[in-house]
Amino acid sequence: MSKQTHSFQAEVKQILHLVTHSLYSNKEIFLRELVSNASDACDKLRYEALDKPELLEDAPNLDVRVFFDAEAKTLTIRDNGIGMSAEEAAAHLGTIAKSGTREFMAKLDGEQKKDANLIGQFGVGFYSGFIVADRMTVETRRAGLPAEQGVRWSSEGTGEFELETITRPERGTDVILHLRDEEVEYLSTWKLKSIISKYSDHLSLPVLMQQEVWDAEANEGKGAQVKKDEWEPVNKAQALWARAKSEVTDAEYQEFYKQISYDQEAPLAYTHNRVEGRSEYTQLLYIPKKAPFDLWNRDKRGGVKLYVKRVFIMDDAEALMPTYLRFVKGVIDSADLPLNVSRELLQESRDVKAIREGCTKRVLSMLESLADSDSADDKAKYADFWKEFGGVLKEGIGEDFANRERLSKLYRFASTHADEGVSLADYVSRMKEGQEAIYVITADSLAAAKSSPQLEIFKKKGIEVLLLIDRVDEWLLSHLYEFDGHPLQSVAKGAVDLGKLQDEEEKKKAEEAAEAFKPVLDKLKEALKDRAKDVRVTTRLVDSPACVVVEEGDMSAHLARMLKQAGQ
Ligand code: ADP
Ligand code: MG
Repeated sequence: MSKQTHSFQAEVKQILHLVTHSLYSNKEIFLRELVSNASDACDKLRYEALDKPELLEDAPNLDVRVFFDAEAKTLTIRDNGIGMSAEEAAAHLGTIAKSGTREFMAKLDGEQKKDANLIGQFGVGFYSGFIVADRMTVETRRAGLPAEQGVRWSSEGTGEFELETITRPERGTDVILHLRDEEVEYLSTWKLKSIISKYSDHLSLPVLMQQEVWDAEANEGKGAQVKKDEWEPVNKAQALWARAKSEVTDAEYQEFYKQISYDQEAPLAYTHNRVEGRSEYTQLLYIPKKAPFDLWNRDKRGGVKLYVKRVFIMDDAEALMPTYLRFVKGVIDSADLPLNVSRELLQESRDVKAIREGCTKRVLSMLESLADSDSADDKAKYADFWKEFGGVLKEGIGEDFANRERLSKLYRFASTHADEGVSLADYVSRMKEGQEAIYVITADSLAAAKSSPQLEIFKKKGIEVLLLIDRVDEWLLSHLYEFDGHPLQSVAKGAVDLGKLQDEEEKKKAEEAAEAFKPVLDKLKEALKDRAKDVRVTTRLVDSPACVVVEEGDMSAHLARMLKQAGQ
């Protein structure tokens, strides 16, 4: 193939623009991204070589090497991992495969485009090289392909990239950064080492550099720092989750989180455990503080990576976490699963089921310990969590029958008692003598719920009503019908039966009124005959003359409105 020029996909151009104009505040992350790609490439080779050991050729030891040429002002990140074919290079280094990219880019407004946190969360990956380089060259050869099918990819990070065929005996990839004049500080062994140990200590793969020593003979006898030929590891090269809990510092846990999540903020909580018993595995799970931009995309890749005995298997392992916990990030490393476990097998495996159940329980207990804590700090953390992820956690009530009780205790609502943070247990503890049901009303907003005429009698009697104003609440109500033996009852449905809460006196008055107003009611019924099923006297109103209710078991007026809006 002679040299070919290709145009970047539109989204890539936008990303490149952001990279070069917004990410200068934290430049050094480019090295983290490129080393992590190199490490991913080695993970992929290791996995493919389980079935095809010949892919390892004569170089079975996988590593990443970082070196520079001070004169040429180039910095190279070399790996002997899977490499790329020409098609792969064009696809992976010319487009963005991640789902939701277009939507994400479109949503960003001018200010947000300068927000490195937001962009960092999205993960600029490979293109971050252009933060410090004005040209990037990638030389690569895919494992299993002949030396003549090597590829050189090259770009100045503007609109286009070039591809050409080269001969490359070594498998794997060199990413060569031609540093901008003002970025030559990265041409320093000390500087590179300090960045690598900061970001890449936890990688299980060794990152190697050539050591520099003082040679008194060099430089015409004046002495100079010279590179030795041997390569030495500069990271710990031990998977963080495989280390003993007592040996990992809080700072290391936080740094690891940032790398797997692209979140610049510290996590809300995390848990690290070695689980033994029916199924043996290690779990390191994090709950983020802030919801990602694509939280509501139920099909997005899960945040939990699956390893088997330290070998990376896959990172969209939805079999490992229920959908309603899709915000959880982390690593699961199994000791029992076969290394060549397939996606299909994952879905059926009993070990995987046990892992999923175990991890779900862990996450719920993390949340419970915040929610039930005596510390005001933890409670505030839980309130923040609920604001970000409450809507997603509510999905759990329909998905996870085994944990429905634990879930329902974690839910928080607004009520006529407080605008937020009311748990069902709080509600029950404030129930009136003789009250059996938990009363609720659904509406579009807190204001609409509060001004609802159906609440009048409850206000008068001092009975608390939960105000359900979240879009998913209608759905929630169809799955959560009781708590602690008390049915949830909508005050906008049927003839509200206040049961023992209604005194005999009132009941009698209502019956008398119904009798006395019969002629009026009949006239109203006649007038509204195509629009109302029934017209009756009620005791539920205090100030308003009339209100509309739906029949018990019918769709609520609020839900009907929502469906109409959605065009159904
Ligand atoms: P991500 O790592 O999140 O997939 P990147 O932008 O970092 O996104 O990388 C894009 C893609 O380019 C990778 O998914 C991979 O397919 C390919 N790639 C990048 N670097 C390498 C490498 N060193 N070896 C092989 N493939 C690579
Ligand atoms: Mg990457």
